[in-house]
Amino acid sequence: MWTAPHPIVVTVVLVDVLAVVSVLSWLWSEPLPVGVGRAALVVAGGLLSTELTWRLERQRRQLADTPHVNMTSVVILAVTLLDGPVAGAAAAVVLYLHLWWRASRWTSGLAPYRAVFNTSAMIIPACAAYGVLRLIAPDDVLSAPSEISAPALAAAIATFWLVNTVIVGAAIAAAEHERSIAGLLGGWSANALEIVTLFLGAMTAVIMELKPWLALFFLPLVYVLHRSDSVKHLEIAASTDHKTGLLNMETWRCLAEAGLRKARRHHVPVAVLMLDLDFFKRINDTHGHLVGDDVLRAVSRVISNEVRRTDLVGRFGGEEFVVFLTDVTLERAVEIAERIRTAVAALEIVPGQADGPAPVSVRVTVGVACDTGYADDEVDLGVLLLSADNRLFFAKGQGRDRISAGYLRRAR
Ligand code: GH3
Ligand code: MG
Ligand code: MG
Repeated sequence: MWTAPHPIVVTVVLVDVLAVVSVLSWLWSEPLPVGVGRAALVVAGGLLSTELTWRLERQRRQLADTPHVNMTSVVILAVTLLDGPVAGAAAAVVLYLHLWWRASRWTSGLAPYRAVFNTSAMIIPACAAYGVLRLIAPDDVLSAPSEISAPALAAAIATFWLVNTVIVGAAIAAAEHERSIAGLLGGWSANALEIVTLFLGAMTAVIMELKPWLALFFLPLVYVLHRSDSVKHLEIAASTDHKTGLLNMETWRCLAEAGLRKARRHHVPVAVLMLDLDFFKRINDTHGHLVGDDVLRAVSRVISNEVRRTDLVGRFGGEEFVVFLTDVTLERAVEIAERIRTAVAALEIVPGQADGPAPVSVRVTVGVACDTGYADDEVDLGVLLLSADNRLFFAKGQGRDRISAGYLRRAR
């Protein structure tokens, strides 16, 4: 851990210390639970579910090492509601030790400090959620989850989610210089899944109190939820370009062809932009390929920001990008291309290393091909692409950092 960058070390130590302090303060202020039979059963269910879902988990780790929803929050919240935060923390330790052991047996493993951090990032939310219950729910319901009112339970779930999200967001900010709120909070679907797992945790606690054997039904539910999360990761891995996060060419082509068919049915004009960075090789040669990659990512963000959400932005290859615009006239497509061109020219890319060289700038040339959507003969996406590419070639010849645009001229 000590060889990691300074912000990571500080975040990890702070979070770990806070977890220990939270548990100690609850140990000091709350009596320990007398019987933990129900909690032990829930933990056993959690361990079993990890075993059942391990193959999916391994596949997910191979695809991406990004933060992800995991099902341990079901168990940790349930145990916290049944037997208090100290029991919840103990459950977290058992589950994460097991996960860590699994990871080191089946994959290249996980550094111990990261496993400890992951555990702390669950213990603190559990302690905080219990603190909220302590504040707003009467004392006698605390070990009887079914007696806790719906608003109190919702507040506990919201607290768990919020505290966990803040901790994970802080870790991402420390590790990746990520500053956007969306990047720090994670996607909508990951958060929805996290909240669903917390509801499941609350339901597990209630059912363990009333009809423990019914909790067995949650195992397949957890498995299916886990699977849906894996499918999402697979979907993203299969359809995006890893370096830039844009659509990869297969997906772009598939979606653009569907868009083109739809546009023709409704006689709507469409346009294809083909973009190529100017003298990109020089950037690589002067600053290195890693800075070149930073430039590619920055340009990708600019293009995505300048078009509508329904437009399709793909990485054609190397330093070439394609955009499919639907329901645009030639004039409008040129406006959009011009907006992209100026926004790219205004970019000042600060290379990754903190005390690195001066900001890098880049220019882009764009070829635009537009189809009115009224001609009788079928327009092929390939023809539109070829026309945009010819325009691009022409604009490069004219001196670069410019746009060449025109309606499609089809061979009759
Ligand atoms: P022009 O203005 O004529 O387009 O000049 P250019 O230098 O951009 O064109 P050229 O096609 O000669 O160079 C493209 C360069 O893009 C060459 C290649 O090394 C680089 N490149 C392709 N893919 C990547 C990538 O993923 N990362 C980085 N850093 N460079 C890449
Ligand atoms: Mg090129
Ligand atoms: Mg180029």
